[in-house]
Amino acid sequence: MSKNQKFTLVKRPVGMPDDTHLKLEESDIPAVGDGQVLLLTRYLSLDPYMRGRMNDGASYASPVGLGEVMTGEAVSEVLESRHPDLSPGDMVVGRTGWQTHSVVHADELFRIDPELAPPSAWLGVMGMTGFTAYVGLLEFGKPKAGETVVVSAASGAVGQIVGQIAKMEGCRVVGVAGADDKCQHVVEHYGFDACVNYKDDDFKAQLAKACPDGIDVYFENVGGKVFEAVMKLVNTFARIPVCGRIAHYNQTELPEGPDRMIPFMGQILVKRLMFRGFIQSDHNELLPQFRRDMSQWLKEGKVRYQEDVVEGFENTATAFQGLLQGRNRGKLVIKVS
Ligand code: NAP
Repeated sequence: MSKNQKFTLVKRPVGMPDDTHLKLEESDIPAVGDGQVLLLTRYLSLDPYMRGRMNDGASYASPVGLGEVMTGEAVSEVLESRHPDLSPGDMVVGRTGWQTHSVVHADELFRIDPELAPPSAWLGVMGMTGFTAYVGLLEFGKPKAGETVVVSAASGAVGQIVGQIAKMEGCRVVGVAGADDKCQHVVEHYGFDACVNYKDDDFKAQLAKACPDGIDVYFENVGGKVFEAVMKLVNTFARIPVCGRIAHYNQTELPEGPDRMIPFMGQILVKRLMFRGFIQSDHNELLPQFRRDMSQWLKEGKVRYQEDVVEGFENTATAFQGLLQGRNRGKLVIKVS
């Protein structure tokens, strides 16, 4: 019988992870118990939150233990089933981790409908990242027609969907991304009104020019210098869904300079700003509505998406390092088998 291949966390990174933190290992595939299924991973999702799971310490989810398989969501094929609801050949999504095979209870899985979207899309536009965009923008950004919405990491898995939903809501949409080709892509393929490269020297001036009426909704994915530039342009009663802070995930110390908390709190008060941190999995009651809306939008061509598919399970750790450096173009998935 074939062996399971898996990436385990062997050392906790301080700063950017490198090849010494994860180890590719082989193990036997466990026997399938009552109610369980044996899965073969087809596509593995790589996401920025995984960097947080490599740290020890309190967060909204437990860290990966040393020696444990890296956490992650995947689309898999059922090879063997001891549960009446799943049969060999079914395709499912589950948190099965960075490994080629897994044995899990069927209750922990969601059977995908390949008629609605191809398998890999259930990790992106029809899955976790599409849902994040939907919940964060509509529930907490509450965009209104005619308003200006700015989204950072605009070409990424979440950002590309945020911008397209905001366009459907009748907003002016401005993206921020870290490469000219990413900016060009979001304008040409997703219909953003403008996109600014935050690595340009005159980034702040370009952002101000792209937002002549100020900013009403800022969908926060990155933090850092993008957040600071946006804060200079926010309007009274602006809403800021705080989705992620990727610019800080590998930071080892606080930036130098004066403490900016006092003027920042002053701005929140005077402009009556609404900041709302959210984690998509707290809003699972909205999943059926999201899947209905998103599958309809895809069918009607109202939402488009880009995936960055890396072939070969052995390339997972390198691809993840690339994600943290902005090398991905769209939703990053590993084609495992
Ligand atoms: P992604 O955008 O597909 O990929 C990450 C992108 O982040 C990179 O391509 C890079 O694009 C950008 N980036 C990397 N380092 C950066 C830095 N130092 N400064 C600015 N940008 C940087 O990832 P995603 O899946 O859409 O996730 C976007 C954000 O949403 C992340 O912060 C993630 O943690 C968060 N998230 C939150 C939830 C939730 O429930 N709250 C769920 C999913 C994702 P550039 O080339 O443009 O820099």
